[in-house]
Amino acid sequence: MPIKKITILGSTGSIGKSALQVIEKFPKRFRVAALAACRSDKELLSQIKKFKPDICALRDPEAAERLRKKTDIPVYDGEEGLLRVAAHPASDFVLSAIVGFAGLAPTLAAIKAGKTIGLANKEALVTAGELVMKEARKRKVKILPVDSEHSAVFQCIEGRGYQFLKSIILTASGGPFIGKKKKELAAVRIEDALCHPNWSMGKKITIDSATLMNKGLEVIEAHHLFGVGAERINVFIHPQSIVHSMAEFVDGSLLAQLSVPDMKAPIAYALSWPERLPDVITPLVLDRMETLTFMEPDTKNFPCLSYAYEALAEGGTMSAVLNAANETAVEAFLAGSIGFTGIPAIIKKTMRLHEKKALSGVSAVIEADRWARETAAGLMKSGKK
Ligand code: NAD
Ligand code: MG
Repeated sequence: MPIKKITILGSTGSIGKSALQVIEKFPKRFRVAALAACRSDKELLSQIKKFKPDICALRDPEAAERLRKKTDIPVYDGEEGLLRVAAHPASDFVLSAIVGFAGLAPTLAAIKAGKTIGLANKEALVTAGELVMKEARKRKVKILPVDSEHSAVFQCIEGRGYQFLKSIILTASGGPFIGKKKKELAAVRIEDALCHPNWSMGKKITIDSATLMNKGLEVIEAHHLFGVGAERINVFIHPQSIVHSMAEFVDGSLLAQLSVPDMKAPIAYALSWPERLPDVITPLVLDRMETLTFMEPDTKNFPCLSYAYEALAEGGTMSAVLNAANETAVEAFLAGSIGFTGIPAIIKKTMRLHEKKALSGVSAVIEADRWARETAAGLMKSGKK
């Protein structure tokens, strides 16, 4: 078995670090070919020393300059630098794990360079799903899901014939505020929102999980990855996070994928697909497991999920607008400038103001993203007056 050469975009983040743990455990299977991050030069330097990539990049030019003084490998910077790392000729597989819209361009660059993609950066599919999937088909590039729900669905349906698939059921933990009403949600603190009951993740996705926007983004992601209409994608709250998602078939059978909640499992499956690596995570002990429960999501108090279905039905640039308004509002919440219920309010208002355009190309997505960020920021400013 030849060694697979891996590039990690977003190597200093939660997914990036978990991926490096998997790679470290299987030195005969994987080698790190290239790494990229935003501005964490110290963390990247320690990764360079340990994993010895050929090249690396930091988005932030000052951080890149600091790193250049401490390493002999080429350090690229800016967006150009990220694109260069994404297309690094020596690499076979690119793990796309940058957070947010910033992950779109490098993901597309990796696809254009013909790399197999392990996709954690769901925002690339949310904002430009049709374009990304079209490019992947054109280049015959495989996109392997890393998001745990999509990895679960992929494992349940692969090789089974799409004509027998009836629906996809995405599970959601529900986040830390499950059962709370709007009034209580308006008063939650940033540190409470950052305290996810089952998963340890980056800040942005942790807030997305608390608002249920993460599940909304995942509905759109599933639509593009599996080519299934929104009416056949359902969401259930499953607070134990043991069933990572399910596929329903026409005969009434449900197939599910279960494990302890640990992102190393879907990361390792994407890295090793179609094979499986031994002892990646702690196995489930069935007779010590909690009772598994499933319930309908509360979209009255957590409306972000409904906004994602609306954006998907609307089509064109609307999902890019949903995503950009969400990124802007989450940043503002984390900075303490708006409250928790301000997040859905800003997204809704921004979407209402948007005149949808066709997804003619990446430039239409970039323009919609820019417009939505500006509009959402303007709404927050005028709301304060
Ligand atoms: P994180 O915040 O922990 O890490 C983000 C990484 O991206 C860091 O390495 C950071 O340096 C880099 N980055 C951020 N902005 C950048 C920019 N402008 N240019 C270049 N690099 C940039 O995030 P995370 O939790 O690891 O999530 C990464 C992606 O994976 C997100 O799209 C998230 O939705 C998805 N995801 C994460 C999890 C999880 O468990 N953390 C699960 C499923 C999906
Ligand atoms: Mg997920």
